[in-house]
Amino acid sequence: MENTLKNIKDYTVDELAAWFVAQNEKPFRAKQVFNWLYQKKVESFSEMLNMSKALRHKMGQHFFISRLKRYQQIHAQDGTIKYVFELQDQQRIESVLMTHRDHYTVCVSSQVGCAMGCDFCMTAQMGLIRNLAPGEVIDQILEIWKDLPENEGIRNVVFMGMGEPFHNYQNIISTLKIMLADVGFNFSSRRITISTSGLVPQIVRFGQEEVKANLAISLNGVNDQIRSQLMPINKAYDLQKLITGCQTYPLESRKRITFEYILIKELTDAIEDAKQLIKLLHGLKFKINLIPYNESPGSKYKRPSPDQIQAFQRYLLNHGVTATLRISKGQDIQGACGQLIQSSL
Ligand code: SAH
Ligand code: SF4
Repeated sequence: MENTLKNIKDYTVDELAAWFVAQNEKPFRAKQVFNWLYQKKVESFSEMLNMSKALRHKMGQHFFISRLKRYQQIHAQDGTIKYVFELQDQQRIESVLMTHRDHYTVCVSSQVGCAMGCDFCMTAQMGLIRNLAPGEVIDQILEIWKDLPENEGIRNVVFMGMGEPFHNYQNIISTLKIMLADVGFNFSSRRITISTSGLVPQIVRFGQEEVKANLAISLNGVNDQIRSQLMPINKAYDLQKLITGCQTYPLESRKRITFEYILIKELTDAIEDAKQLIKLLHGLKFKINLIPYNESPGSKYKRPSPDQIQAFQRYLLNHGVTATLRISKGQDIQGACGQLIQSSL
């Protein structure tokens, strides 16, 4: 018998099926486990009643079922809830539940901290502490799900919490496989969005994966000078490389790449920048998500005035560009974009 138990939530259906086969069991057992874990949302093997006692015992000797510890929960005025979860090694991550008119969206973390060092982002200040395992991402969804009214569920998941998802590539691919499995959560790939700071090799690779999700790219600057100042990753993968990577990215019909663009006062918010933005993205199938900069205590950048924000958006719209404005939720609880940082810091 092994002495280190494995978290069963780190496993995709196929990986779990292989384990059952190795135990001389039928592979369909994996689907049953997925149904228990992600449909019925049980938290112990003893509840998996269509498995024999012997099999449940065997599973318990090899696997454990993880659970996140709730460390802190902060409610914003707009209904958004920021969760601080504690992992098994006492590291903390944050997730955000956003309530929309007819659905719920959860924003998950993919790493503890982040290595990318973006100048405007609070998470960057932590540096990278470690990657999250698939089960640790899945657990954010499961734990928050418990707080929803009965018969309601999480419809959308965005990978926009702490961390750079494509810097934890394999684990995020496994996480997507687990989320999309029809015998489990059965999420729609149209309802999942991965946001990346622009790791070009991973963008290209992701385009070739069987698992799909919407792709969002944090652009934030319209030329290399400004983008490198804000995002050090631009020194490795500059705008030309990024745009070339996007050009090769396969998109299903009617699908577009989302470019996130932070509006920072007197840095990225000029109408001239809007003009450059359109020029830069010309030829791509894209839409723009404008994020007015969320200030944190002591932050060196400022949010533009509402008039300036509107003028920027209007310029894009008037030039036929789809441009949405992300009114960040949960600002009063430091739960908005880029404000996720461990409370201890
Ligand atoms: N690491 C990934 C996903 C997490 S960040 C990425 O960078 O894309 C999610 C989004 O929040 C990114 O688009 C980022 O540019 C934005 N963001 C970070 N800090 C922000 C801040 N202070 N105000 C507004 N948006 C911010
Ligand atoms: Fe990391 Fe994204 Fe923050 Fe940049 S914006 S430091 S990539 S979490």
